[in-house]
Parts: sequence; structure tokens; C-alpha cells
Amino acid sequence: NLSRRGLPRWLKRHVPKGNGNHFTARLVETLGLVTVCEHAKCPNRMECYARRTATFMIMGEVCTRRCGFCAVKKGKTQPLDPTEPHRVAQAAATLGLKHVVITCVTRDDLPDGGAAHFVRTIEAVRAVTQATIEVLPSDFHGRWESVATVAAARPDVYNHNTETVPRLYATVRGRKANYRWTLEMFRRLKREFPGLCTKSGLMVGLGETYQELLDTFADLVAVGVDILTVGQYLQPTPQNLPVVRYYHPEEFDHLAEMARRIGFKEVYSGPFVRSSYHAGEVFAHVQKA
Ligand code: SF4
Ligand code: SF4
Repeated sequence: NLSRRGLPRWLKRHVPKGNGNHFTARLVETLGLVTVCEHAKCPNRMECYARRTATFMIMGEVCTRRCGFCAVKKGKTQPLDPTEPHRVAQAAATLGLKHVVITCVTRDDLPDGGAAHFVRTIEAVRAVTQATIEVLPSDFHGRWESVATVAAARPDVYNHNTETVPRLYATVRGRKANYRWTLEMFRRLKREFPGLCTKSGLMVGLGETYQELLDTFADLVAVGVDILTVGQYLQPTPQNLPVVRYYHPEEFDHLAEMARRIGFKEVYSGPFVRSSYHAGEVFAHVQKA
């Protein structure tokens, strides 16, 4: 198991100076919010919090799925809290966010997967900030109505992570996820919401081949995905899937070059890249292009 043998030098992180991260952490705690930064044990948390950014994870801290790579708690879910959209909005306004990223746990137990709650959160944020909004919802277990409900609230970016190549879907995302559905969702989003910017991300180091990555990139471009993120998978807890390989930073650059050639408008690829990492800058880049 590579994860236990120490990290290569490019994956060692320096702790940022100053206490900006405390401000963000305290605000999140005071408002009783959940961030994916903390709950997924993201390696960028200190940096993002110090820059006063965070990715809000709505609909509770417990997920109905059991993805092998993810550290979010699994089990019995909590009822939706009607005050949550306003608390998210308050945090976004206090942090002065220019770009707000909202994700959620997968709620297979709710008839709409939580789509209406997602919309209320988008609307609450919009009511108190001028920020652009990026949503990163679940796959809604294939329910197009839920995807369309969220898209109709006109977020600026609709992000959904492909996570891995199709051969590894069952191990990495679990049997309830479906690669074809992910592609079909993007295809319909582009057809029915043509102005919407779409984004997807993959982790590398789970045992995929280079060719499988390129084939997946091509599939995503074919269904109209605009932005691609690629980052190194890091095992968040010993119970999660092991790391099969660490990619060298030059390999991330090479993947980015290939992905651009295949046709994405914007590619962000690097060892620490996560779907929401520097999301505001990435989107600004696309807007300028
Ligand atoms: Fe949070 Fe995203 Fe930054 Fe990670 S990369 S700390 S999930 S905002
Ligand atoms: Fe984690 Fe998977 Fe649940 Fe998302 S759906 S929070 S990746 S377990």
C-alpha cells in the first residue's frame, strides 16, 4: 500500500502563515455549516481557509453512498434543515466570496435527492451576494428532473465529477453510480441549458491507464463538458481505497496538454487539484476566453 509509505516530495505541503484559516473555520463552526474541505479531509484546507474560501456541503454530514475514495460519513441521514440555505448565504457574504461553490452529500433517501433544497440555497446566496455560483450536486441517481431543477436555478457553473474511468466505477464510486448516466446528464444539460458552463473532474492514481484517461476526456468533450480538473487521489483514511500510483507533476502537465488538445475550454491539472480548488479563478479564465 503506497499511501502508508510516505509521500513523494511534491505532495508535501507547507502550512500557510497567519491565522486567516482560523477565521474561516470559526465562521463555519459558528454558523453550524458543513464543508467538504473538512469532511472529505481535503489536503488544501489550510490554504483555502487562509484565502477565506470554502466549499459548502449541504443536506447534512452523512451520505447515503459509500464511495471507496471518500471520507464523508456514511449511514443514517439527517432531516433537511430549512435554515441551512440562509446560513450558507450568510457565510458566503461574511467571507466576501466572489465565487461560491456548493456541493452536497448524496441523498438517495429523498424523493427529489434534495434538488429543491439546492435551489433554495442558490437563491439565498444570490439574494445577499453578487457572487458567481458553482454547484456540484450528486448524480441524483439518474433523475433528470432533479438535475433540471438545479440547472433551472441558473447557477453559473454546473459541476459533476466523473471521478474515475468507467472500468473502475464500481470500486471507486460504488454500484449506484453509472458512467453512462454521467455522460447522458452532461449531454442533456448542454442541450437544454446551452449557456450553462459545465465542469467535471477526475482523480488519478487509482489504477487507471493513461489511455483510459484520454478516452474518458474524449467522452466528456463529446458531451459538451467545458472545464476539466485532474488531481492526485490521496487516501483520506486507512479505510479508503489505497493509492496505486503517484503521478509526477510533469505527468499532470502532460495530461493537461492532451486534454486541451482533445477540446476542453479550460483544464486545471496538478497533484493538489480538486474539483473546487481555485474554482473562482478557473471560471474567470473561461469567461475571459
Ligand atoms: Fe475546500 Fe475545495 Fe479548497 Fe479542498 S480545494 S479545501 S474542498 S475549497
Ligand atoms: Fe462522498 Fe460519494 Fe457521498 Fe459524494 S456520494 S459525499 S463522494 S460518499
